[in-house]
Amino acid sequence: MLTLHDVQAGYGRTTILHGINIEVRSGEVVTIVGANGAGKTTTLRTIAGLVRPSAGRITFEGEEIGRLSPHEVVARGITLIPEGRQLFPFMSVRDNLRMGAYTPHARARMEQTMEEVLELFPRVRERLDQHAGSLSGGEQQMVAIARGMMARPKLLMFDEPSLGLAPIIVSQVFDVVERIVQTGVTVLLVEQNVFRTLSIADRGYVLENGEITMSDSGSALLRDDHVRRAYLGI
Ligand code: ATP
Repeated sequence: MLTLHDVQAGYGRTTILHGINIEVRSGEVVTIVGANGAGKTTTLRTIAGLVRPSAGRITFEGEEIGRLSPHEVVARGITLIPEGRQLFPFMSVRDNLRMGAYTPHARARMEQTMEEVLELFPRVRERLDQHAGSLSGGEQQMVAIARGMMARPKLLMFDEPSLGLAPIIVSQVFDVVERIVQTGVTVLLVEQNVFRTLSIADRGYVLENGEITMSDSGSALLRDDHVRRAYLGI
């Protein structure tokens, strides 16, 4: 579905990703594991069209997308739920959700999608008329995920969805990710909660200093000595 082939990217003259290769197949949950500053966010932003690759190819469903603008990438079916949620705090939850449906394809089916999405997020439905900024951190994260779903993505990318949330809310975030996968959406997940993430991931990549150093099934990475020492603290 998605392939990164020798992708290099960075900011200005600084190269962050040094030729990385990643594959995500339809229906999978794939995770990228790495220390702070390894380049995980940069990888997601490069796929999303927010950072332009300086070399390599990114293909999605057979089409080269590495030169597309962010909204063109969304129109192809890839949505990024950014770190820190980035909701519009003074807009209602309902309007925040509508903002997610900005491609013509998504806008045409907005009310139907809203119903489908709210089925997954009953707590969000209860708060549709509230300002997004007045919600708790966990509720805001659910709105951010729901807004991402409003674009009717085929591939949904999450950047640190459980950051700063209490353990019980973290569990709810993981439950939602699993329910989204069951609706047929493919997931690429970056998450500091490495144990839980590898537990639900079909496959994972380890990114260190902008290079992929390992890739394997989630369960094999969970058993790997280096992963256990460096990312699980075992
Ligand atoms: P974290 O878990 O801390 O978010 P990460 O693996 O997601 O880490 P990135 O956010 O991709 O890492 O950052 C990789 C490197 O790129 C870091 O050294 C960071 O300082 C640098 N970087 C990130 N964004 C920018 C930017 N807009 N301009 C310049 N450098 C940046």
